Amino acid sequence: MHEKDIFCKIVDGEIPCYKLYEDDDVLAFLDISQVTKGHALVISKRHYENFLSTPKEIMHKVMDVAQRIGQVDIKLLGAEGVNILSNCYPAAGQSVMHFHVHVIPRYKEGEGFEITMKNNAEGLNLPAIAGQIKENL
Ligand code: 5GP
Repeated sequence: MHEKDIFCKIVDGEIPCYKLYEDDDVLAFLDISQVTKGHALVISKRHYENFLSTPKEIMHKVMDVAQRIGQVDIKLLGAEGVNILSNCYPAAGQSVMHFHVHVIPRYKEGEGFEITMKNNAEGLNLPAIAGQIKENL
């Protein structure tokens, strides 16, 4: 048994949350930080470290709920866009080591949250990189 992380405690009702959705496998609630209005987290109830180590069936259920929340954000919350994000391992910004997906409504450019994708392709051997990934899927 691993030590309970903060999301295990939320699942067990030891820490309160603003619940959005719950079934046997999935729980969704508002992120305490609200980087934008309605920022939600969708998590597996069972403890898995992150997206990469979660069984497919559970991962699919979590993504299904994330999709539904994103649709509501657009339809009813006034969002113009949504970012679906799952940080895997600290190097990617994961701070809670329990699988979760962020659903971040976007209202206008740069509000509260920003992803900057720079083009760093110069000098990279793209055929070799593509080959290495492709051959190991
Ligand atoms: P990560 O950085 O691991 O991808 O995201 C973890 C998220 O969990 C953060 O956005 C943080 O605000 C949120 N969080 C941490 N502790 C709590 C808590 O006790 N309640 C809620 N609702 N969110 C939390």
